[in-house]
Amino acid sequence: MRKKIVAGNWKMNTSLAEGFSLAKEVIAGSSRVDQGVELVVIPPFTHLSEIVKLARGSRVRVGAQNCAQWPKGAYTGEVSASMLQSAGVEYVILGHSERREYFNETNRSLFEKLQLALQENLTPIFCCGEKLGEREAGQHFAVVEKQVAESLFGLETRQVQQVVIAYEPVWAIGTGKTATADQAQEMHAFIRGLLAGKYGSTLADSISILYGGSCKPSNAAELFAKPDVDGGLIGGASLVAADFIAIAGSF
Ligand code: PEP
Repeated sequence: MRKKIVAGNWKMNTSLAEGFSLAKEVIAGSSRVDQGVELVVIPPFTHLSEIVKLARGSRVRVGAQNCAQWPKGAYTGEVSASMLQSAGVEYVILGHSERREYFNETNRSLFEKLQLALQENLTPIFCCGEKLGEREAGQHFAVVEKQVAESLFGLETRQVQQVVIAYEPVWAIGTGKTATADQAQEMHAFIRGLLAGKYGSTLADSISILYGGSCKPSNAAELFAKPDVDGGLIGGASLVAADFIAIAGSF
C-alpha cells in the first residue's frame, strides 16, 4: 500500500510566531484527518527546530524546503542535509520549480541533493513538472521524463524506494489554475510507468506521487480520487490551517 501524504509548503511566509501558531492549529486539526494520511508541514528553515519540538508526540511530520548540494563547508547561506537531520526534520522538498527557476537548480544538482538527503535518512519530495509553453507544445511528457531520468535514475533501488515524487505543472503553481484530475492522473501514471521501466513494477507501485498546483479544499477530493494520485503538495492553501486540514480530509 502506498502512503497517502498531504504536505504543506509554506514557502517564504510567516514570522516565527505566525508559523508556530499555524503548526499548532494543524496539529490540533489533525484529529479530523484519517489516520492513514501522513501530514507534513514544511516551514522556512528558521522555524524548523521550534516546530519539530512542537510536533513531537503528534502525528504531524516536519520537512524543509531545500538542502545544499554539498555535505558541509564554505558555502555561506546554505543548509546541509545533515543539519536538517540533526534538527529532527524528516522530509525535504527538492527541485521545486521556484528553485529551478530562480536558483538555477538543475537535474544534475538535484541528483546530488537527493543522494545527500537519502544518506541522512530524509525523505525527499522530488518535484517535477512542465511549464505552460512546454505543455502547449505537447512536450510535457518529454520534459518530465528528462527531469525524472536525470535526477532519479542514477539512484539505486534501495534509494529510490525512499523518494516521494510531486508532479507540479508550473502553470498551475500559485495561479489558481489547477490541472484537471484527468491531466494529473495521466501524468502520474506516466511517471509510475517510467519508474516501472527502470526499477520494476513492484517498486513503482510503492512510490507515492503527489499532485501540486493550486490544490484547494474544493478540488482536492476529485484529484485524490484518481488511482495514481497519492496526495498533494500544497502551497498557498497550506497557510490556512482549516484549508490544509480540509484538503487532507478529502481522501
Ligand atoms: C507549490 O508551490 O508547491 C504549490 C503547489 O503551490 P500552490 O498550491 O500555491 O499552487
